[in-house]
Amino acid sequence: MIPFLHLTPGEDRPAIDQAIRRVLDRGWFILGPELEGFEAEFAQATASRHAVGVGNGTDALAIALRAIGVGTGDEVITSPLSAAYTAMAIVMAGARPVFADIDPIRLTLDPQAVAAAITARTAALMPVHLYGQPADMAAFAPLAERHGLAIVEDCCQAHLATCAGRPVGSFGAGGGYSFYPTKNLGALGDAGALTTNDEQVARRARQLRNGGQSERYRHDETGVNSRLDEIQAAILRERLKGLEHATSRRRALAARYRALLAETDAVAMPPLVDEGHVYHLFPVLAEDRQALQQHLRERGIETLVHYPIPIPRQAAFQTMDVAQCPVADRICSQVVSLPLYPTLDSAAVETVAQAVLSYKTARLRR
Ligand SMILES: *Cc1c(COP(=O)(O)O)cnc(C)c1O
Repeated sequence: MIPFLHLTPGEDRPAIDQAIRRVLDRGWFILGPELEGFEAEFAQATASRHAVGVGNGTDALAIALRAIGVGTGDEVITSPLSAAYTAMAIVMAGARPVFADIDPIRLTLDPQAVAAAITARTAALMPVHLYGQPADMAAFAPLAERHGLAIVEDCCQAHLATCAGRPVGSFGAGGGYSFYPTKNLGALGDAGALTTNDEQVARRARQLRNGGQSERYRHDETGVNSRLDEIQAAILRERLKGLEHATSRRRALAARYRALLAETDAVAMPPLVDEGHVYHLFPVLAEDRQALQQHLRERGIETLVHYPIPIPRQAAFQTMDVAQCPVADRICSQVVSLPLYPTLDSAAVETVAQAVLSYKTARLRR
């Protein structure tokens, strides 16, 4: 069996046990020294001046938008191919998500489609560094500048990713991160953070995450209750130490998949356009996705689809916009993620690749 994911702590189990014990012994569970330590360490890891820990990645994005003043009446342009939470964060901030199509190569927002979607109400762009692949920030930064728009980057799948050598999250107002257990940096529960180089944005975000309090029992605005707790912060501090190594491992496994699947036309691989890719997932495109998944399942290999439905086609969003996103539509019908995580061994990657190659032969025989 090759499962899609493996989340049970392994090598880092003793360190995590110790981190949890440290918090229990201290008896301080919310907004304490572990969070402060993690925020400083995560800011450094992402080359940003400030990190603000919050309850999850969705809140990180929503709070980042609110902290820069995006709200009612504003439009935020984002990708139709992402976790639906990206668009929900925009709604939570009081704004309206507008979907522009994706680039068929990167599978991230297409700058030309974004340019065409800008209106007088557009306040911000929210590119998603999907699957760990950085969006085309070299195009978005000048576009935003020209139109006076803010950029908040969805970095929920892109911890430590860089775009043309520059860290994601640094191209605009800031970035939103998720530490959901399956993410490249995963907690043992829900957690998230936003990063920014702007002191004012960081201060406002700290206020917003804590009920809008400027000081204890003084609520200056209606914020939310969304804090990264001490136990998760302590766990994340331990895991952050191994993140660079885990990222190298993801890249090595991805390179192996690329080499093994380079020749086949059973599946298409999105090309590597930026070495800063951190491979949260390893998606391939297949004409008959269901048959490929079935073929792999029969060989004990688990796959998942990220994502089967473009966000503007979700019942929750379709009333908002008749989105014209043909590329996202096609990708959603063909994309399938192969297993890839730091504890997967190279032999398993070979097994998966061989199974994909044998799918082609099986199809020809039919
Ligand atoms: C995981 C994820 C989110 C949401 O993060 P949560 O921590 O689950 O709220 C948002 N956007 C993307 C691209 C994600 O992968």
